[in-house]
Amino acid sequence: MKQTATSPHPVTQRTLRESITYVGVGLHSGQKVSLSIRPAPANNGVVFIRKDIEPGKNMIPARWYTVTDTSLSTTLGNEYGVNISTVEHLLAALHGCGVDNAIIEVDGPEIPIMDGSSAPFVNMIEKVGTHDQDTTRHAIWIQSPIEVQHGDRYALLLPSKSPRITVSIDFPNTAIGFQTYSVELVNEAFRHDVARARTFGFSEQIEQLKTLGLARGGSLRNAVLVDGARIVNEEGLRYSNEFVRHKILDCLGDLSLAGVPIYGHYYANKPGHELNTALLRKLFETRSAWSYIPVEEYNRLMGIEEPNITSQEINMVQEASDSVSARG
Ligand SMILES: [Zn+2]
Repeated sequence: MKQTATSPHPVTQRTLRESITYVGVGLHSGQKVSLSIRPAPANNGVVFIRKDIEPGKNMIPARWYTVTDTSLSTTLGNEYGVNISTVEHLLAALHGCGVDNAIIEVDGPEIPIMDGSSAPFVNMIEKVGTHDQDTTRHAIWIQSPIEVQHGDRYALLLPSKSPRITVSIDFPNTAIGFQTYSVELVNEAFRHDVARARTFGFSEQIEQLKTLGLARGGSLRNAVLVDGARIVNEEGLRYSNEFVRHKILDCLGDLSLAGVPIYGHYYANKPGHELNTALLRKLFETRSAWSYIPVEEYNRLMGIEEPNITSQEINMVQEASDSVSARG
């Protein structure tokens, strides 16, 4: 077997070894929420359960078709009008840790904001550990481009030799400015390069949000606050380009709503929750653009375990990534 820089992608489904419980505060409601993340059987996926709502009406699967609102965070809901909001940082952590199956119980309408990043969730998952289940894991393997565009915002899924995410953001005349960043989603990349990036807000928005009864739980402990060219937080930034890394984190949380990992290159300019939801809708409408593939087969085709990729496949991947570079 050839040694490669990339570990093979996990070929079986994964859940948590034990349950995690935590009490925190919701960013917008300011409400205390008790959160439990529990192991779940294979093929369960990630499902939210609102413990404060009567059984039978309180389950919300974490899937693209349950998205009900994308204005401030990603909100999911069911046919009984029961919602759960600010799910994206927790979903990104589960996805980044390779957890396919989990039951998330909450006794309120919002997931705790923690420190505004995915790192506390990642730390809790790593503390209890994960359990590899005896069931084949599948992925969505992108074979031709999928694109959505809203004005100057766009997002694409492209064929790629390895799962990758590239995002650009532009906030002129602020401490953020233009930032672009690309991560190959292999090995420990999520934990090292993305998980610690915090959400951010602008001074002028804060008063407006609070007037609307939002951001009640917001503080410098759970967000980076930008005031024009200045960063208000005394501790400064965790990464010099923390803002674009956080946007990548949000996008990974949203993309996990596909239900299985997407093996392709997600490439976006100024993405947001709405654009990502539209991209997933388009993906599932364009069934000819991808294959539903066992990850074991994907590893083999990509030469990650046994190098038998054809030069034609390498060219196809190269052409797709060249067309992206030309665009960016
Ligand atoms: Zn976020």
